[in-house]
Amino acid sequence: MAKKTVPPIKIALAGNPNAGKTSLFNVLTGSRQHVGNYPGVTVEQRWGHYKVNGQRVDVVDLPGTYSLTSFSPEERVARDELLHTQHDVVVVVADSTALKRSLMLLVQVMQLGATPVLCLNMSDEAMASGQRIDRKRLELELGFPVVETVGHKGKGRDDLIAAIFRASESKTSAKTPSLGEDLDGAIETISATLKLSGSLPQTKAWVATRLLVGDEKIAEELAGDVSKDTVALAKKEAERLSNETGQDISLFVTERYFAFVDDLLAKVVKTERRSDSRARSERIDRVLANPTFGLPVFGIIMFAIFWVTFTLGEIPMGWIESGQGMLSDWITGFWPQGSESALRSLLVDGVIAGVGGVVVFLPNIVLLFLGLALLEDSGYMARAAYLMDRVMHRFGLHGKSFVPMMTGFGCSIPGIMATRTLENERDRLTTMLVLPLMSCGARLPIWMLLIPAFFPPEWRAPALWGIYSIGILLAFLLALALRRTVLAGEAAPFVMELPPYRMPTSRALIKKMTERAWIYLRKAGTIILAVSIVLWVMSTYPKKDTYEVDAQLAQGIEMTDEEIEQARGGEDLRYSVAGRLGIAIEPLIKPMGFDWKLGTSMIGAFAAKEVFVANLGIVYSMGETTEDSEDLRNKLSRDYSPLVGFSLMLFLLIAAPCMATFAVTRRESGSWRWAFLQLGGLTLVAFLLSTTVYQVGRLLGAG
Ligand code: GDP
Ligand code: MG
Repeated sequence: MAKKTVPPIKIALAGNPNAGKTSLFNVLTGSRQHVGNYPGVTVEQRWGHYKVNGQRVDVVDLPGTYSLTSFSPEERVARDELLHTQHDVVVVVADSTALKRSLMLLVQVMQLGATPVLCLNMSDEAMASGQRIDRKRLELELGFPVVETVGHKGKGRDDLIAAIFRASESKTSAKTPSLGEDLDGAIETISATLKLSGSLPQTKAWVATRLLVGDEKIAEELAGDVSKDTVALAKKEAERLSNETGQDISLFVTERYFAFVDDLLAKVVKTERRSDSRARSERIDRVLANPTFGLPVFGIIMFAIFWVTFTLGEIPMGWIESGQGMLSDWITGFWPQGSESALRSLLVDGVIAGVGGVVVFLPNIVLLFLGLALLEDSGYMARAAYLMDRVMHRFGLHGKSFVPMMTGFGCSIPGIMATRTLENERDRLTTMLVLPLMSCGARLPIWMLLIPAFFPPEWRAPALWGIYSIGILLAFLLALALRRTVLAGEAAPFVMELPPYRMPTSRALIKKMTERAWIYLRKAGTIILAVSIVLWVMSTYPKKDTYEVDAQLAQGIEMTDEEIEQARGGEDLRYSVAGRLGIAIEPLIKPMGFDWKLGTSMIGAFAAKEVFVANLGIVYSMGETTEDSEDLRNKLSRDYSPLVGFSLMLFLLIAAPCMATFAVTRRESGSWRWAFLQLGGLTLVAFLLSTTVYQVGRLLGAG
């Protein structure tokens, strides 16, 4: 008997950020999942599948969103997926401890005419806080399945799977939520004139509502389906409603959404006593979000993270280093001793010295991200933003800007994209322009290399903390400068809801760390590898045939073999393309205390910041005898004073953001002008600051 092929059921998980979508996604799909990006944006996309009774179910985990109307990249992606992709079932994941907010999304999904399942997640916490939900009644009111789950524990999995199956069997769209006679009437009138094609017909109520509130984007996007007459009709209806109610139309619609949710909740929720987790959170916040010592505590917490990043990271780093040493020796062993080989040099001096030099810092990256993930998942990060708000206002910034800025510690690109949550254009531009000063993950390897080279052990963690702090401080100062000049204007007020504290789960943490580690390794294996090979070629060719050192030897100068080798290596490097470039820019960087070797290493760091570390590894590996096993940090502390080291760190912190940041700033700000202002401005500030530090330092007798 031929096997009948049944098409897979397609479902999407939608919900507020932190409602537990990803936890449920993991529970449903197990390891049968992939992570990637949505096309064209750096918003993460997760998709996977599971099987029940031979029926395959494909699942997408949508980015977190509070509504389908705002335009942060995450929200945009979620909106587009829900609007344009035909899902058999849309599971709305609600945070049961914040039902009102969660159900606001549900109303919109219902308007979209999806086939929903409501998943009341975090039911453990809601239960503990004394909240009781009459699930049966809620199901009856809504007309589609409602299940209770505890996402991170996998509780309620079978119920959820069964509910999804039931919903997909029924194939019934949610009935349009009733938003009051007047509004429903207007929506219906507008809907009647809509002729939506493809998968869109069932989204009429939602599209009509968007037209009613004057959403021009939707009219443009569906230009083929939405006639001018419909737009005009929507405008007339909006005016009528707003005259009748004396209210702004958007506000009016939002209020009706809320009213729908409130009615529903009044029918099904019984709260027995005050939320335990809220009460506990408030107690914790008396210390952590305290106006006087909240900020110092934040400083201490960050310091602890950097300390751990350093001290614990050193241990596995040693293992990786010795592993690479063994690998180099093993490769070198394939060639007869002392022989010249371009391939051997490419592998040992190019790939291992370059890529290996970056990979070595993997443990530090993992530890730093563990720390940041802990702050985020526990709910502490929201407190930090709240605390920073008052400080940031003095600098013409915004408490809300702090979240993109903290994201910038990971990578400037998502940080810059996250500025879309700022409504005010000036707030947004200011934040975006100074954001690269948040020391990103790609710069961590630079600090890991330079700090131990120039600071004694007990000063290393403070130095790391210091460089991050300098970045933040400078970001504030530059923001203030922008606010006083090109971007003058008031900063908008900040409202933010603090989520309750939660114990982060090890599963979520491990996942975040492995993802980060993988991204880091992938970058090392692609862009860093490519740049390393290019730099190896540039620092190997053209070859020199006669050496000055040989002439000196002929004149009878005494030198050890090692000194001769080293002198020849140095000459080779100066003669190569990379060396010549470094020497050419030396006059420019000399005021900061840098020589041509550092200049050579900086070439290409615009492609990716880690490249500086890779390049330095190659430059030192090329210019020296290969037998020399002294590590790079020792060579650096031998060649440069701590003053130069510090000046170098400052320069690398502030100067030219990487290429990708430049491109994203261009796209997000909508003009080359801002992107160039950022690039040029930051490089200029870097130059001035490093030069001042170096020159003043020298006058004072350091270095
Ligand atoms: P997402 O942003 O919607 O993808 O949310 P996540 O799945 O990343 O979950 C956010 C946090 O809530 C994580 O720390 C989870 O472990 C935790 N979490 C998820 N589901 C539950 C739940 O049902 N109860 C509790 N107490 N915590 C949960
Ligand atoms: Mg998620």
